[in-house]
Amino acid sequence: MTRKPHDPTHHTGWCARDHRCNHAEHRSDDIAVTIPGHGRAVLTRVRDSQGREYGELRARIHLDPDEYTARVQLRTALTDLRGLLSRAADYTRRSA
Ligand SMILES: [Zn+2]
Repeated sequence: MTRKPHDPTHHTGWCARDHRCNHAEHRSDDIAVTIPGHGRAVLTRVRDSQGREYGELRARIHLDPDEYTARVQLRTALTDLRGLLSRAADYTRRSA
């Protein structure tokens, strides 16, 4: 697939076409996943001014008030994020 640099007049098929789409990039609607009592994550597809595309992920994880447990939770999140990013990158290489 050929990706073109950002053109504010030609939106992508997935672009939200609102204030999130600006002079530097196109942005999709947010896709949110909420697990009540545990946290929330939001995934947004982005095409930057150079035509590169990204999946932008933002997440909030409810942390335990106990400092040790909170650090274990954060360490677990970082470990799993590394695995998530690796799996997504591996999929791209296999399908190319
Ligand atoms: Zn757009």
